Amino acid sequence: MNGSIAAPLLDWFDATKRDMPWRRTRDPYGIWISEVMLQQTQVDTVRSYWERFMRRFPTVTALAEAPVDDLLKAWEGLGYYSRARNLQAAARQIVERHGGSLPSEPGELARLTGIGPYTAGAVASIAFGRPEPAVDGNVVRVFSRLFWLDDDAARPAGRARLEGIARSLLAAPPAADRPGDFNQALMELGATVCTPRAPDCAVCPVRERCLAHATGDPEARPLRRSKPKVPYAEIAVGVCAHQGRVLVARRPTRGLLAGFLAFPSDRLAAGEPVPAGVSRALEASGVRAEILGPWMEFPFVFSSLRTTHKVFRAGYLGGAPVSGARWVDRRELEELALPTAFAPIREALLATPDWASLGPERAHV
Ligand code: SF4
Repeated sequence: MNGSIAAPLLDWFDATKRDMPWRRTRDPYGIWISEVMLQQTQVDTVRSYWERFMRRFPTVTALAEAPVDDLLKAWEGLGYYSRARNLQAAARQIVERHGGSLPSEPGELARLTGIGPYTAGAVASIAFGRPEPAVDGNVVRVFSRLFWLDDDAARPAGRARLEGIARSLLAAPPAADRPGDFNQALMELGATVCTPRAPDCAVCPVRERCLAHATGDPEARPLRRSKPKVPYAEIAVGVCAHQGRVLVARRPTRGLLAGFLAFPSDRLAAGEPVPAGVSRALEASGVRAEILGPWMEFPFVFSSLRTTHKVFRAGYLGGAPVSGARWVDRRELEELALPTAFAPIREALLATPDWASLGPERAHV
C-alpha cells in the first residue's frame, strides 16, 4: 500500500486545503497550541481563539509565567479547561528542561504534561518534519474505510495497528518527504470528505484504492461500538448576594473544574435535599446563609459527567469568605474567568437589575 494513497492525497491537499492561521506558521509553539485547541473544539471556533491566545501569550515563556486567571480567561468558552492548565504545566517544563523551546524528539514531547501520542506525533511531524504518525478520530475513520479494518482504536492493539499503518505510509516518498503535510492531509480528508455520515466518495482523491468505497457501504466502517454510560450527578449551587456583591469561591485543586472561581457548589449525595448541599457549599466558603428557595435549574454535560445544576438563592446571615472565596461586584463578575458550566447563572445575575431582589424579601413569594 506504500505510496499508493500518498501522492493523490498530497496533490488533493495542496489544491484544496483550508486556510488556517496556524498553517501559516512553522513556530512549533503555535502549532502545539493549535493542536491542543483543536482536540475538542471546531476549527471555526479555534481560529479566533488561537490568534487572540498567540497575541496574549506569544511564547512558551509568556505562557509559563502567565497568571492562571489570565490563562483561564483567554480559554473561556473553549471548555475542557484541563487543557489550559496542562498547557501551562507543559510550558513550565519546556522552560525548565529545554530552555523554552519545544523539543523535536517525539519521546521528549510525550513526556510533557497533557501531550499524548497524537499531539506528540502532530507536533513532531508538522513542526519538525519527523515521520511520526498522528492518528486522531478523522484518521481512524479514513483508515478503517480505506483498508476495511475492524480494529477498535480505543484499545491498545487497535491503536498500535493504525499507527503501524501510518508509519508504513510515512516511510516511503512522497509522504516521507512531507510527513506533516501527509498527516494533515489525512485529517483534512476525514474532516471534509470522509465524514462520519454520508462521506463524499465522488470527490475523494483516494476512492480508487478504498475498500469501503468498493463495498458500496462506506458508513459500515469504522464499526460502531456501544459507549460506556456517562455517570450523572446533581450539583447544588448557592447564589448569595449581599450589599450589591455576590459570593464566589475557588474550587478545589483537584477534580471537576479544579481551581476555578465559581459560585459555591457541591455534588449532592443520592437523595440528599438540595438546600443541604447549598448550605454545605456556602459554609465551606466561610459564609452562613439562610437557604431561600430555588432560583434556576439547568443541565450541563462535562466530558466525564452529566449534571443538573440546581441553583438556590441564599440570604447572608454572617461569616466572612475564607481564603479563595470573595464577594464580587457586577463589573468583576462580568470579567471573571468563569467555567461555562456556571455561565447561565452569571447571565441571569447580570440580567437582574437589583440583586437585593434575590434576598430574603423574595423568600416567601
Ligand atoms: Fe472515505 Fe469514500 Fe474516500 Fe473511501 S472513498 S476514503 S469512504 S470518502
